[in-house]
Amino acid sequence: TDAVVSVRDLHVEFPTQLGVVRALNGVSFDVPRGRVLGVVGESGSGKSVTARAILQIVERPGRITSGDILFRPGAAKEGGGRATRRNRGRAAAANGDAGGEREAVELTALDPRGDQIRSIRGQEISMIFQEPMTSLNPVYTVGDQISEAILLHQTPDRAEANKRAVEMLRRVGMPNPDRIAKSYPHQLSGGMRQRAMIAMALSCTPTLLIADEPTTALDVTTEAQILELMRELQDEFGMSIMFITHSMGVVAQLCDEVVVMYLGRIVERAPVEDIFYNPKHPYTVSLLRSIPRIGVNRGVPLEVIKGSVPDPYSTVPGCQFHPRCPSAMKGLCDTVVPQETAVDGRTDHSVRCHLYPGSTPAETASAGASE
Ligand code: SF4
Ligand code: MG
Repeated sequence: TDAVVSVRDLHVEFPTQLGVVRALNGVSFDVPRGRVLGVVGESGSGKSVTARAILQIVERPGRITSGDILFRPGAAKEGGGRATRRNRGRAAAANGDAGGEREAVELTALDPRGDQIRSIRGQEISMIFQEPMTSLNPVYTVGDQISEAILLHQTPDRAEANKRAVEMLRRVGMPNPDRIAKSYPHQLSGGMRQRAMIAMALSCTPTLLIADEPTTALDVTTEAQILELMRELQDEFGMSIMFITHSMGVVAQLCDEVVVMYLGRIVERAPVEDIFYNPKHPYTVSLLRSIPRIGVNRGVPLEVIKGSVPDPYSTVPGCQFHPRCPSAMKGLCDTVVPQETAVDGRTDHSVRCHLYPGSTPAETASAGASE
């Protein structure tokens, strides 16, 4: 398969006075090119740390202690997925990809403050955070910031860029896009700023867009609009998206493939249909049970799962989910760490759970599972 990013056996640690917190403990997955990968799990599962590790912006004193992150630039190519059906030439042009293969980059080998990772961050991998003020510049109008991105990535024509900037603001659900374009970030409400930031990130048409719960603070209607817009732009430009969320509802609306994280590990990985209709891991099953009914409990975190995520300082022996798992087996789950195994011999569906002892090692199984 064609992956825009391949993460292999990634470990991230945060040394603290109380001991080392293993934020990521051997994480391996691919972000498929021209598709949407959902990363789902409760807070503390390592979703944001994974995103930050890809961009080499893990917060201090945290650090990547081992693992590989290979980035392969370029938009989706013909036949590479649904994203490419519409407009291959435009996708390639938008990403500065003249059709030639570009060299893969090992991101963990780059100086985190060097020019190379900085240009990748600005041009090829964009990230949308929960907090919009970090990416908007307070001294320029929202419209100017978006047109700059469009001038850099889509068209050299300023009048056309200004027009597209207003259109982009309309598409992210701004009620009065002409007026908003002339506003400064501080003149907007939090929800408006969030939408402005999303418009800006999408205008960069990056190879990979990493979105960390960008719609969590927005109302249902706006959220639906923005998810739809992401789909459209992804289709138009062949973008790949890694979408971090705690909401299975969002996963259902947006994602093609899913990884489920629990306490620094991936516990299940599958195409979205299998996650919903053929889930294997008891944690995935409980996430599905916690999906709120339409209009009820929306935004309520996944508390319906028995127990809470253990204190990160305490080391849970065996399967880390066992204290909360309804299927836990004494003498096995509480002592032996389950390894990643392929479900029914498939390469696109894997699980880490003793209920599925299958002998086929999964394709991306961590080499050095050291436990
Ligand atoms: Fe539950 Fe055991 Fe599977 Fe862990 S390994 S999820 S405790 S059945
Ligand atoms: Mg987070």
